[in-house]
Amino acid sequence: MADGAPVPEHLTPHDLVTYFRCPFEMELLHAEHRHFVSGVPIVPMTPEHIRPLQHSPLLGPPTGGVTVVDGRLDLDEKDTLVYLDDEEGLPILFPPERIRLDPRFTTRPRNLVDATLGFAGRPDFVVEQHDGTLIPIEYKSTHLFVGFHEVHGRSFDVLQAVAECRLVEAAFGRRPPMGLVYYGDAAGGGQHEGFVQVRYGESEEHWLRYALATIRSDRERAPVPSDRTCPHCTANRMGLCSYAVSRADHPELRPWSSGPVVPAQ
Ligand code: SF4
Repeated sequence: MADGAPVPEHLTPHDLVTYFRCPFEMELLHAEHRHFVSGVPIVPMTPEHIRPLQHSPLLGPPTGGVTVVDGRLDLDEKDTLVYLDDEEGLPILFPPERIRLDPRFTTRPRNLVDATLGFAGRPDFVVEQHDGTLIPIEYKSTHLFVGFHEVHGRSFDVLQAVAECRLVEAAFGRRPPMGLVYYGDAAGGGQHEGFVQVRYGESEEHWLRYALATIRSDRERAPVPSDRTCPHCTANRMGLCSYAVSRADHPELRPWSSGPVVPAQ
């Protein structure tokens, strides 16, 4: 970045996931975080009285390089673990003798940073294969869902895996050929364990750059109320968004109606 150039808004893989679901949710969480850090209340950039959208402005990532495997994630006995997030609840994938963590990432916050794209985050695991190939793994405790949610869910898998591949490339100086999203099915005792393998090629990297540019250039960050996402939305649980509540109580305020729109609080 040239001296004096504006610093791009810091973004994370979690921001990508959130924005893809609902830009307003991401904006509310950013404002809350800045409020927490600075102690000064921060007003979200979303204009009051904005009309909700039916979809996020962010187009989904390419899904041509996705392979879904319904079964166990078997790691090669020559694979080693070189990065481990300190998040609670992660499964033990490696015996102690195959854990060789990169010392640069063993103290908090363990972030992998991409200074070029202004992007940072933490995969759950990074595995190194015997030939030096690196593969990030994102762990989900749920089962490998199929059917109704499949298309929707796979896009979230892809964008998270692609983002983590880019971070590994930036932090380790080696480009992963793919990323994995591993569904451990903790509640089902691993009965429906599975994983999604996501290629990290030129089209996926191109999409990531497009996604970061789309988010940064969006100065409205409109809400995308949805029966599926609002009940699980962190900003909603924190009481920060009036849109979901309005929709539940007043169906005429749904974004696809021509009725009045309730301003964000
Ligand atoms: S409650 Fe719904 S509309 Fe509001 S921020 Fe969350 S997902 Fe978006």
